[in-house]
Amino acid sequence: MAGNVTTNLVQAAYIVSAILFVLSLAGLSRHERAKEGNAFGVTGMVLALLATVWLVLDRSSHPWTTLAYIVVAMAVGASVGLWRARVVEMTQMPELIAMLHSFVGLAAVLVGYNSFEAGSEGAASGGLHLVEVFLGVFIGAVTLTGSVVAFGKLSARISSAPLVLPARHWLNLLALLVSAGLLAWFLASTSVVPLLLMTVVALAFGWHLVASIGGGDMPVVISMLNSYSGWAAAAAGFMLGNDLLIVTGALVGSSGAILSYIMCRAMNRSFFSVIAGGFGQAVATGEARDYGEHREATVADVAELLRGARSVVITPGYGMAVAQAQYPVADLTARLRERGVDVRFGIHPVAGRLPGHMNVLLAEAKVPYDIVLEMDEVNDDFPDTDVVLVIGANDTVNPSATEEPGSPIAGMPVLEVWKAHDVVVFKRSMATGYAGVQNPLFFKDNTVMLFGDAKERVEDIIKAL
Ligand code: NDP
Repeated sequence: MAGNVTTNLVQAAYIVSAILFVLSLAGLSRHERAKEGNAFGVTGMVLALLATVWLVLDRSSHPWTTLAYIVVAMAVGASVGLWRARVVEMTQMPELIAMLHSFVGLAAVLVGYNSFEAGSEGAASGGLHLVEVFLGVFIGAVTLTGSVVAFGKLSARISSAPLVLPARHWLNLLALLVSAGLLAWFLASTSVVPLLLMTVVALAFGWHLVASIGGGDMPVVISMLNSYSGWAAAAAGFMLGNDLLIVTGALVGSSGAILSYIMCRAMNRSFFSVIAGGFGQAVATGEARDYGEHREATVADVAELLRGARSVVITPGYGMAVAQAQYPVADLTARLRERGVDVRFGIHPVAGRLPGHMNVLLAEAKVPYDIVLEMDEVNDDFPDTDVVLVIGANDTVNPSATEEPGSPIAGMPVLEVWKAHDVVVFKRSMATGYAGVQNPLFFKDNTVMLFGDAKERVEDIIKAL
């Protein structure tokens, strides 16, 4: 009787948590309500954790031992989590997220094996349960190695160039077919051998899938792995008979899938061509071309340009995040606006290393939302703009995406800054951006380069003004 009451209360807590998670996602989709969304998410997660621990203790024959295990595991996890969250730089967020996704994958694999063992002991392993175990382990293993490779690529421990194996599409197809065959064997034999073999195949498949995706497509990979980690969690929920895990996993899985779709549209790529990989392999062709000479400007030159400008568009990129230049950029914006200059921001959907990266930085520096525009809202205005300040952006303002059909980033929509009257590029050297492609913008007649750390250079300009 007491057990029933506990189960009912826990189910009620799960429903409240699920509603809080939905409210959290709704809040996080708008800047103004993001903090509220976070609070909903944290509350939902605390409630879900408390309810789950209570349920487990209620069902356990040795509640104190079980509680001790849970407390030790949570203490270790929470200490590592708190430490990482405190020290992580904003620019390292994507790699941290990739690493966290790999943990979800690993958890799904472990839950799968555990659930299989428990099921076979109790002879309760019906066909449906076996399919759940098999799919859970498969999705978990793909997520695990895929996320590890993504972590390596984002933290520059592995080259961001795509791995192009001969017959790579056939290899992927073969992995899927072999896994399907192993599922049939697993269902017929209920032996652990096909499960183990499939795990090896799925680990290799996940590794290859992400290794063969090139630099420029990494935004889609991150959101895709986010989606996979959701499905891995949902699969774990089915195996454990935990409704909240199924709901949460489905929320993460479907929001990740929607984000992947949005990212693909932003990059003008089809989802399947991204998954198939190989994008960005023609880097060498871009490098070999002679684009001519670039022109260098001094801080005084740029200050002079800004003094005469009536309209300015700022297009920030990953370099602004590295330099933490958002504060002086916000200061410069305020000063120019005081002088009556029309200042706006043009944000490319994949600028930086995270979806919404630039929006977060600018919001942090208190730049007013109404002057922060998306690429499509600002692209037609460049011909009427006096000065564009490109602050640490590179791939997202690269004209070869529209002008050179052979370029590895051909077809990706970009901020067409070169159509403005004058363009100033803030960066430290002539190095390429994330996709490894040379940028002809730097050599155009109306472009000048202002070399140095973006934060220091913007501060120098404020002084000069
Ligand atoms: P890029 O990564 O193309 O280029 C950034 C530029 O910033 C570099 O050329 C670098 O040049 C410069 N830079 C670095 N540090 C500093 C500094 N301290 N001061 C001044 N400049 C600096 O940036 P974009 O934002 O234009 O493009 C993003 C790229 O990242 C795209 O290719 C996108 O596909 C990819 N990506 C995006 C993700 C997302 O979700 N948004 C996720 C993963 C990848 P230099 O070294 O000469 O200073």
